Amino acid sequence: MKEIRMVDLKGQYEFIQPEVTEEINKVLETTSFINGPAVKAFQSDLERYLDVAHVIPCANGTDALQIALMGLGLQPGDEVITADFTFAATVEVIALLRLKPVLVDVDPKTFNIDPKKIEEAITPKTKAIIPVHLFGQVADMESILAIAEKHQLYVIEDNAQGIGATYSFKDGRKAKTGTLGHVAATSFFPSKNLGAYGDGGAIFTQDDDLAHYIRGIVNHGMYKRYYHDVVGVNSRLDSMQAAVLKVKLNYLDFYNERRKEAALRYTALLKDHPNIITPYNAWDCDAHVYHQYTLRIVNHDRDGLVQYLNEHNIPCGIYYPVPLHAQKAYQDERFREEDFVVTNQLVKEVISLPMHSELDQEQISFIAQHLLEFLGN
Ligand SMILES: *Cc1c(COP(=O)(O)O)cnc(C)c1O
Repeated sequence: MKEIRMVDLKGQYEFIQPEVTEEINKVLETTSFINGPAVKAFQSDLERYLDVAHVIPCANGTDALQIALMGLGLQPGDEVITADFTFAATVEVIALLRLKPVLVDVDPKTFNIDPKKIEEAITPKTKAIIPVHLFGQVADMESILAIAEKHQLYVIEDNAQGIGATYSFKDGRKAKTGTLGHVAATSFFPSKNLGAYGDGGAIFTQDDDLAHYIRGIVNHGMYKRYYHDVVGVNSRLDSMQAAVLKVKLNYLDFYNERRKEAALRYTALLKDHPNIITPYNAWDCDAHVYHQYTLRIVNHDRDGLVQYLNEHNIPCGIYYPVPLHAQKAYQDERFREEDFVVTNQLVKEVISLPMHSELDQEQISFIAQHLLEFLGN
């Protein structure tokens, strides 16, 4: 059996190595390392893939979130609602811009922001909602968009874990995640579903004016060379990363399909155990791209299981061990423990198993067998 890895970037690379080498060599030949043709080519390929008017590449996913917020012209003290159960980058950028992060609890089945809790958290200062498509599953966008419209709020999708997922509206209309709100941010961190060989990120929007404004923000607030109209940042996707991403974008659907197959295999082996809750698929199978395959271990020893798996050379992860409301950096006297019942429970129960496009049946069976062995089957 192949060594089990949490993500297998090596195995994935070997499969596409000739194409990647060719594209990287082209960048080397042109020496157009910044804003070269590879960046433009990737940008337009991704616009076509997502069916979105504008993709604005930038340096990483955290920057993408920050720049998306900057683009909306929010003022210090404005409130931005997001989930208590997500990676810290989402709240970090809110706080960094002197906006107020308002954290709300999540749905115990999907782990995504609970629309009912969003409504309860809205005040006259609320300006935006950031749903995160956590672990690759689309948030309840139809409800979130309805709330946003009712209260005149912006919706910024954190699509760092959800790229390639398709959301189906009740009327049958389908659209890719990242094109559903006013603006979206994604990350091309190597372990993401569409990962570069270094850092990268992008902002998506259908809005021409917002796209124009954001293109200036990522480039020191310049709309004309050396004329700085707004305070911007320097955030670029370099040409080498764009070259890699351009190749890998052609495989994104294939990679996500392989992840789904792996998830189905895991679920078939694990779903009947009384101490395991397998991932819930709220919409349909295109609405979850399994960035992570995350179980809940109920009424049992989750931490003991982590240790047991590690002893058997099975890597696993706890995403995330601490709710954001309990993080030192984001303390707020308005947070009350009873408002975060679900997140407080999830951080004690979740465990993410190895998940990537190279995982084979033998590895999945081996992992599942050890899990069941520890839990007692
Ligand atoms: C990875 C990630 C980010 C940040 O992306 P970076 O490229 O690492 O800056 C933001 N939000 C979520 C939910 C993520 O998973």
